[in-house]
Amino acid sequence: MRRYVNLEEISDGKKYDEEDMVKADCLDCSGCSKCCQGMGNSITLDPYDIWRLTKGTGLSMEALLTEQVELSVADGVILPNLKMTGEREQCAFLNEKGRCSIHAFRPGICRLFPLGRYYEGNTFRYFLQTGECIHPKTKIKVRKWIDTPDYKRNKEFILQWHSLVNQVEELIRDNEDDEFRKNINLLFLKTFYLTPYQTEIKTSEKSGETDMEGCEDDAFYIQFYERQKRFRAILQLPK
Ligand code: SF4
Ligand code: SF4
Repeated sequence: MRRYVNLEEISDGKKYDEEDMVKADCLDCSGCSKCCQGMGNSITLDPYDIWRLTKGTGLSMEALLTEQVELSVADGVILPNLKMTGEREQCAFLNEKGRCSIHAFRPGICRLFPLGRYYEGNTFRYFLQTGECIHPKTKIKVRKWIDTPDYKRNKEFILQWHSLVNQVEELIRDNEDDEFRKNINLLFLKTFYLTPYQTEIKTSEKSGETDMEGCEDDAFYIQFYERQKRFRAILQLPK
């Protein structure tokens, strides 16, 4: 979710690159888990998060939507987010010991916290949210803290996704026809979230052969870029 705030007010004023050291590591916090409670609809999920979640839990997107995930509107666009439930308004994946039960395939925003992304030009850097968590932390390399496979390719995906969401927001904002807005949102959800991603892609779909792609995430990225191409063509969105 985007926020329009003064960076100086919510951070230490610095912008970090992936190789920089930052005071973000809270792994000895004894399961404080405050960042897994009362987060409202702020933990939005991108298609790669859904890919990881469906693969890791074995649940379909439809099944996740019954308990752990909900849909919310952000700047006119319907996006899924982690649902906060119960008296303590906590994430459904938080276990009774105050630990994340899906740590290995937790969403990107959970991997970032207490860092945030600061988009500028055609890229982004990171900032440290100093008011969100006051627990003492140790220094860690940004890239290690985020702990995402194939960082470079994932960053490129995030940038393309960010740009696409911005374009869809703009399209919705500039059009007053409610039916049109509804249809764009439905197409967007169906294309990128509700249609299951295959976990393996046969190279026959690209080259006429039958071998599988080597890395599991290849399957996601291939399908994402194909879907993005189709979606952009239907709505005539520029790249
Ligand atoms: S980031 Fe902060 S709020 Fe979240 S678990 Fe660590 S110490 Fe707790
Ligand atoms: S997915 Fe895990 S880290 Fe993220 S909010 Fe839920 S319990 Fe916390």
